[in-house]
Amino acid sequence: MRAFVADGQWAPRDGYKPTKEEIAKKRASIGSSVWRNPAFELKNIPTPNIVESDEILIAVKRCGICGSDTHLYETSPDGYIQFSGPVSLPQVIGHEYSGVVVKKGSGVRNFKEGDMAAVESINWCGTCTPCRSGAFNQCANVELIGITAPGALAEFITAKERHCWNINSLRRIYPEDDIFDLGALIEPVGCAYNGIFIGGGGIKPGSAVVVFGAGPIGLAAVALSRLAGANLIIAFDVHNKRLDIARGLGADYVFNVKELQKAGILPREKIMELTDGTGAELQVEAAGAARKTVPEMENSLAVNGKLIYLGRSATSAEVTLDLLVSGANSIIGVRGHSGHGIYNNIIRLLSTGKLQIKDIITSYYDFSETLPALKNSVERQDGKCMIRVG
Ligand SMILES: [Zn+2]
Ligand SMILES: [Zn+2]
Repeated sequence: MRAFVADGQWAPRDGYKPTKEEIAKKRASIGSSVWRNPAFELKNIPTPNIVESDEILIAVKRCGICGSDTHLYETSPDGYIQFSGPVSLPQVIGHEYSGVVVKKGSGVRNFKEGDMAAVESINWCGTCTPCRSGAFNQCANVELIGITAPGALAEFITAKERHCWNINSLRRIYPEDDIFDLGALIEPVGCAYNGIFIGGGGIKPGSAVVVFGAGPIGLAAVALSRLAGANLIIAFDVHNKRLDIARGLGADYVFNVKELQKAGILPREKIMELTDGTGAELQVEAAGAARKTVPEMENSLAVNGKLIYLGRSATSAEVTLDLLVSGANSIIGVRGHSGHGIYNNIIRLLSTGKLQIKDIITSYYDFSETLPALKNSVERQDGKCMIRVG
């Protein structure tokens, strides 16, 4: 089958001592400290097959390009990849996908051939203590598909039944093409859902919500907040194209941070002005720019406000802890999209048309054009770039 494979050079940075296990598996715990000179190629590799009885073979239809894929492609000036999570190369990349069940193991109960499926990218084990405590996104033995395990920018992929979700119900209102697009969006949308409703405990109807970063996760945060009854939604980004999508998905006000800067206006000032001086009850960091966004957010939170930190970047930022005390505010870190009914609820909202997120997708590429798509993702102009794999 054809697959889009990333490879690189194992070259631990000075001061990074890989463990024996890391060396044996060529699996770096901190990818950006080990992998250098990444290279990408669409090539023929053996088609995977079902090995365990609980596995499903899926013909991939769509796979989104994620910020973490861009971080595998982008390098530092000395050639190291930017992605700071665990990375094992060579690897078929891609993890935001949907497809059709073509074969199932003897122990699979809830799928049949021909079913349409969306699949969690966090391969949680189900047996470790965090998993057995319900914290699947914090699984101690987690494998990330497309990063530490074979990914979905391939014609076929196998997945455990427990990570797969049936999306046939979307047939009620969508044509098949749209179903696969939406199916591949559930993964990033699930991260926003997890941040706002699971980690953050949700919003009260009437609340003010601020979203920093109008990439796919920030855009999903806008759409979900609108659905949950936010009275006011303000989105910030540096690209007008993304801000236009945010407006379409329900943001009441959108601001280009660069333009504000030129005018000598801080985001926090806009937030305080638009909330009549009370600040916003919930603010989402989906920009991955904590050093810049945290000072704005912490100075414009409402009393009992929540700062939801979703933007992944290996960075630290100054936090004025006294503001947390004064406002009884909290900062909540969240990752992933597994457990807590997240996939199930998003699928239900999609199948009734209540959650409209298709506009998050702003470009499509054929599978053969995956490398140009990845190159283009560095510009960060898109909402979601979708690859038509099959
Ligand atoms: Zn992703
Ligand atoms: Zn686990």
